Amino acid sequence: MTKDIDWANIGFNYIKTDYRFVSNYKDGKWDNGNLTSDAVILLDESAGVLQYAQTCFEGLKAYRTVDGHVVCFRPDLNAKRMSDSCKRLEMPVYPEDKFVEAVEEVVKANIDFVPPYGTGASLYLRPYMFASSNVIGVKPAQEYQFRIFATPVGPYFKGGAKPVSVKISDFDRAAPHGTGHIKAGLNYAMSLHAIVQAHNEGFNENFYLDSATRTKIEETGGANIIFVTNDKKVITPKSNTILPSITRRSLMYVAEHYLGLQTEEREILLDELGNFAECALCGTAAVLSPVGKINNHGKEILLPSGMDEMGEVTKQLYETLIGIQTGKIEAPAGWIKVIE
Ligand SMILES: *Cc1c(COP(=O)(O)O)cnc(C)c1O
Repeated sequence: MTKDIDWANIGFNYIKTDYRFVSNYKDGKWDNGNLTSDAVILLDESAGVLQYAQTCFEGLKAYRTVDGHVVCFRPDLNAKRMSDSCKRLEMPVYPEDKFVEAVEEVVKANIDFVPPYGTGASLYLRPYMFASSNVIGVKPAQEYQFRIFATPVGPYFKGGAKPVSVKISDFDRAAPHGTGHIKAGLNYAMSLHAIVQAHNEGFNENFYLDSATRTKIEETGGANIIFVTNDKKVITPKSNTILPSITRRSLMYVAEHYLGLQTEEREILLDELGNFAECALCGTAAVLSPVGKINNHGKEILLPSGMDEMGEVTKQLYETLIGIQTGKIEAPAGWIKVIE
């Protein structure tokens, strides 16, 4: 029986569910892993994650399609991305096929927390891994824990996606040859100061520049960016310090193969921002969030699509991807993982 939750109003907060998946890495290998109802982690005071932040994570959703199935969107890409994150952080890879199986197990065990179709709510899944054994000298830990918990989240936009206002940040998020391209907790820790400041100044988000030249647009703290040109070409910044968003990669495919639009991944200069017709942020949480205004050190760039609604192409992209995710539009092979 689906839980009696006020799906429209739960927001994006942690709500404890019944089961989570846990697997431990010890003596050079992963155990089989199991579901547990225990949400508490007991760690030694010198655990690697607590001292040197050796941890990475993923985020994806389970939700109901129009015909009542419970599905996940491209979980194999989360598995692959987590394996890339682990390699960069000298953590053991959790096998990608087992990652997808564990996602499935957690969703099944918490099936009553998957919101009904049409509520806009979903069951958010948080796979993560951290160093659990003692370190004090700086080196990778010997033992790790991989977990997936689930928490129901409400519709990202209550009453429609309103355009957001962003600022060009004076802080940097990722260095060349650093960790910007992996989903490491440390990338988020250092972005908190910048986002709190941006919020205090009345902005919803930060646009980070490439830290080498500070002339190119990269992404926000937790979402990639797409732009639409006046002749309806969909472009996205090319950089190896951007986290490869699964939503963004899917949207670029949708633009080209479903909407017949031209697409391009290329460097996007700060100086070009005034030339675009539309701009939007993309990530699992909101799918697409339109940008209405960009503030570059006091100079305001107003996107022609304005502060009231999504631009035309953004809206088409949004509706097509949501249609694919919810089973109203046929998905490319392998995009939808049916769980129940
Ligand atoms: C997770 C994340 C995104 C969005 O990726 P999705 O796979 O689309 O959810 C974008 N940027 C950063 C920095 C992220 O950590």
